[in-house]
Amino acid sequence: MVWKEEELNKWFHPDDIRVILEVQLPLFPKEDIQIWGGTQNGIFTVKSAYHFLCNQQALKDKLKASSSGTLIPQVPKPVWKLIWGCKTIPKIKTFLWKACGFGLATGEGLHHRQITVDPACHRCSEPIESIDHILFQCEFARAVWFGSPLTINFGSENMTLVEWISSWTKLLAKDKANGHLVISLCSFLCWFIWKARNNSIFNQTTTSPSAVCSMAVKAYEEFWSSKGDTALPNQASPHSTPTVQGWTPPPYPSMKLNCDASIHGEGKLSSIGFVVRNSTGLCTLAVSDPLHFTTPLQGEALAIRSRLLHALGDCIEDIMVESDCKELLDLLSRGKDSSPPIYILPIVEDIVYLSTMFCKCQFVYIPRLSNVVADTLAKKALSITGMTTWPVSSSWIINLCKGDTMCKPRSSE
Ligand SMILES: [Zn+2]
Repeated sequence: MVWKEEELNKWFHPDDIRVILEVQLPLFPKEDIQIWGGTQNGIFTVKSAYHFLCNQQALKDKLKASSSGTLIPQVPKPVWKLIWGCKTIPKIKTFLWKACGFGLATGEGLHHRQITVDPACHRCSEPIESIDHILFQCEFARAVWFGSPLTINFGSENMTLVEWISSWTKLLAKDKANGHLVISLCSFLCWFIWKARNNSIFNQTTTSPSAVCSMAVKAYEEFWSSKGDTALPNQASPHSTPTVQGWTPPPYPSMKLNCDASIHGEGKLSSIGFVVRNSTGLCTLAVSDPLHFTTPLQGEALAIRSRLLHALGDCIEDIMVESDCKELLDLLSRGKDSSPPIYILPIVEDIVYLSTMFCKCQFVYIPRLSNVVADTLAKKALSITGMTTWPVSSSWIINLCKGDTMCKPRSSE
């Protein structure tokens, strides 16, 4: 199925059409449903309506404050305390404090001070570039958080910076030492996301989300090693850290499919890679595809859907799908009871439906370190123009697969 662009042109504004065309359509026709835009899964909750109204009020208050000429940051006292207690460098504390008090020159900040600039986000054209958008909601920031050692997915809950900092209290109450490490790394990630944004606007230099991650982790490690400590925090997510195992061939007669999605160049380039291997570890298919998608979650879902469809065509009956995208696997394991984000709902539904057509189809989590072949194939696709099926007898594919089977188990990612 494809969008009828001439119909869209009749009814919608060009800006909205661009957004609509980004929405993935299902392979199998389904009835239209009504969704609520205030939650990630499109299901209405009283809590989300409450947050929506609070955000409206906060926006009104912000407008009022800026029109009355108030430029002094008004930061709630508990938040102020958390910022000054954060284990980070002083300039980052000042940055966070200014950011909470709307004291930074964001598109929104400048617009409210009557400075004639386009208040839109220069990366994704979101109409108002707020600090919350820059740090959490913009696709670029989301890629940074997801690609960081913390693998954070903020979803689309439209959380504000003040709300996020307030939530640090809970993190510290749970495990003070690790909480301080997590918050410290988060502070460096915020700072480098902000710096990348400024460099991109004022110096026209582009920094990839992965480069932002590396710079933040490096600065964080330097900060802690100056204090005689080099520990990286445990994952902030409630899920326990998985034990990393090396890649292993599937049991006979199963085929194993490994998928991975890659995003580069500030989200402008995206691609997927997948590899199919049998019970002897022999590669039967290796593909790189420069496919367009906007989030790693969407890319992983598209990769799995596309491959399952082809596996059915190849008469594979027993398939094991391995991906390093935990969030997607959680959604798939819950099947019809899951409520995925709206922007991938049709793809997840297609995958669940396709999986029922195999005699056996299971979805398994593999840590990124053990998913090297799929990861390399995905990255390779960034430099090609169309989907490429690599000859499986070529030495680079053979050597690549050899590297995967030799991947040694490690205690943590
Ligand atoms: Zn943006």
